[in-house]
Amino acid sequence: MNKVKTSLWKLDPAPESTDHVSLQSSYGLFIDGEFVESEGGGMFDTINPATEETIAQITEATDADVDKAVKAARTAYQKVWSKTSPADRGKYIYRIARLIQEKARELAVIETLDGGKPIRESRDIDIPLAAAHFFYYAGWADKLAYAFPNRTPKPLGVAGQIIPWNFPLLMAAWKIAPALACGNTVVLKPAETTSLTALKLCEIIQQAGLPAGVVNIVTGHGPVGAAIVNHPDVDKVAFTGSTAVGKGIQTAIASTEKSCTLELGGKAANIVFDDAPIDQAVEGIINGIYFNQGHVCCAGSRLFVQESVFEEVMRKLKHRINTLNVGDPMDKNTDVGAINSHKQLQRINEYIEIGKDEGADFYQLESDLPEKGFWCPPCLFTGVAQSNRIAQEEIFGPVLAVQTFRTVAEVIKKANNTPYGLSAGVWTDKGSKLFNMTAQMRAGVIWANTYNKFDPTSPFGGYKESGFGREGGMHGLAAYVKI
Ligand code: ADP
Repeated sequence: MNKVKTSLWKLDPAPESTDHVSLQSSYGLFIDGEFVESEGGGMFDTINPATEETIAQITEATDADVDKAVKAARTAYQKVWSKTSPADRGKYIYRIARLIQEKARELAVIETLDGGKPIRESRDIDIPLAAAHFFYYAGWADKLAYAFPNRTPKPLGVAGQIIPWNFPLLMAAWKIAPALACGNTVVLKPAETTSLTALKLCEIIQQAGLPAGVVNIVTGHGPVGAAIVNHPDVDKVAFTGSTAVGKGIQTAIASTEKSCTLELGGKAANIVFDDAPIDQAVEGIINGIYFNQGHVCCAGSRLFVQESVFEEVMRKLKHRINTLNVGDPMDKNTDVGAINSHKQLQRINEYIEIGKDEGADFYQLESDLPEKGFWCPPCLFTGVAQSNRIAQEEIFGPVLAVQTFRTVAEVIKKANNTPYGLSAGVWTDKGSKLFNMTAQMRAGVIWANTYNKFDPTSPFGGYKESGFGREGGMHGLAAYVKI
């Protein structure tokens, strides 16, 4: 193994304070506008992955709880929300956005405590973007006729929404905001390791005065998600998560009338041509795979470098990796935080072993890590073959598979040679080359000379096993209406 000791930047600790955070020791389920106890379900711990300490206890919902939540959503849909004027729907969504902004600091800290991502990410990306999504869809609520000219968009009814652990509040915003704007009511399940910001969102929803039952949030593990998917009175299923679970959901609802959007895994190609601005490209590679611990479905986990600049890119990339600070996610200088769970760390480590067994060359930042918690310093493999599992399968960690190419045709073929098609990045000085690439690459989002940039106005979603349907932008409305 080729390890290099990090030595460049030794910064004093700069931890974000937690004294402004108010958390309960245990949380019930948010059904019909209030927190209620489960009917027969137990409790489980949500832990801080950087310290392994318990933060709070969360309820494991039962089928009876899910049924209660769906009934509350149905009643709210029929009696209140479908009769609320579009402009008033917009006002409620706008209030939620404002309250998220007001509580941004507290939400960012909770996101980092519960999920392990650096405070810089939750503070600068997750929470502002979550508010931005509510603001954006608040604006659409009374303008749906403009989004679907000469059509009559109607809400679908009750939306069942299941989200993953990598962007907990942001994923809730992606799902709830357009659903409400289009006149649907919601039953949402956050991921079992990161439920806290969704539960804080329930408090915000109460403060915003949203009518009871319009948004219901049930917590728990996979079977709770399955109970939502299989509930006969759910009209729409929106899922973000692993391809395996997404396939199961599609099979489960195949013989029903339920509409469905799936945002699944990815194995994005980040492509650097020899005419690219190399320093910016290196920063984009770092941003694409290492910030946020690679816990991003659109992470640039496959790097393709044109052969003539391979040595330069690798030298600069390794140099930059050696400057990354790994450790306490609450520290404002941390670049790479904790892996979200022990289970995920095991999976990442398994893939690192697979990569070594496949014969690729391994390079990893050597870093002093905290004794407790789940950690994986940024690493990469060179000499990777197209058929290697580390080049084909989603790892969801800070592990980069590097390959080289000579021609445009070759790299397009290699980039498309994956079961996924969620995102990609292209680095070049030539606009014509960019457009040639984007026209031929099968990826829902392609960033040009940048990476991992999000905006509520821009649709996001995949091809092939990365799922179908789009979230964000005007396209995101289509997933929540029948026309
Ligand atoms: P990951 O492997 O990244 O945790 P999952 O697809 O397992 O991704 O999880 C994404 C979300 O789907 C989580 O909220 C999880 O609890 C939920 N989930 C897991 N299994 C199922 C299932 N069979 N049906 C519905 N939801 C599920």
